[in-house]
Amino acid sequence: MSDTAVEVSLDVEFFRRWVVEFAEAIDESCDDLTRLDAAIGDADHGVNMRRGMQAAVDAVGAEELVSPGAVLSMVGSRLISVVGGAAGPLYGTAFRAMGEVLGSRPVVGPDDLVKALRAGLDAIQRIGAAEPGDKTIVDAWYPAARALEAGGRTVRAIARDAEKASLEGMTATIPMRARKGRASYLGWRSEGHQDPGATSAHLIFASLEAVTR
Ligand code: ADP
Ligand code: MG
Repeated sequence: MSDTAVEVSLDVEFFRRWVVEFAEAIDESCDDLTRLDAAIGDADHGVNMRRGMQAAVDAVGAEELVSPGAVLSMVGSRLISVVGGAAGPLYGTAFRAMGEVLGSRPVVGPDDLVKALRAGLDAIQRIGAAEPGDKTIVDAWYPAARALEAGGRTVRAIARDAEKASLEGMTATIPMRARKGRASYLGWRSEGHQDPGATSAHLIFASLEAVTR
């Protein structure tokens, strides 16, 4: 498939669409995320994320949010306040870090989006101290950020490459032994199960890809 002739504008409406798309993807995958978390955790990841993203969608419609940065910061704040468990603070801090990078400009560029995604990963690693291979959110987000390092891509190419890399990263968590979070208590028994957080992280990039189509 070729890139669209007209480059996608990274304005506040684009970021609102991304948030709504991500919330819908979480809603559709809620049972799957819960099932994955039931295997190696406490079966709450789906409902945690659904509650958080519903609150985020309710908040990002507000008229006073006039920049992409304000939209993403609001998502982060809602996730931190509404979601219990490990994923709330991790995703919440990531969205706030992304919002901070984008600042208050009404429209941002493709390289800003790449910087924001990188800042989201850095925030997750700063507070969660997980490395690639630990069977966490990082296993989907890190390869996505790595895939974008070269820069110079269109928005469409950014989204497509990040989605593909995060999908591979998500699948690669199956044989891993968890070294962070609740699943790490299981030791070798965490092997053979896909990580719920890596699965929800892939949905961030899949929904980004969907709104650039
Ligand atoms: P809890 O484990 O508190 O029930 P959730 O079920 O909502 O929280 O989220 C579980 C997911 O959180 C895991 O599948 C894993 O991907 C992610 N996670 C846990 N700890 C970390 C960490 N330190 N860094 C990154 N991701 C983590
Ligand atoms: Mg859980």
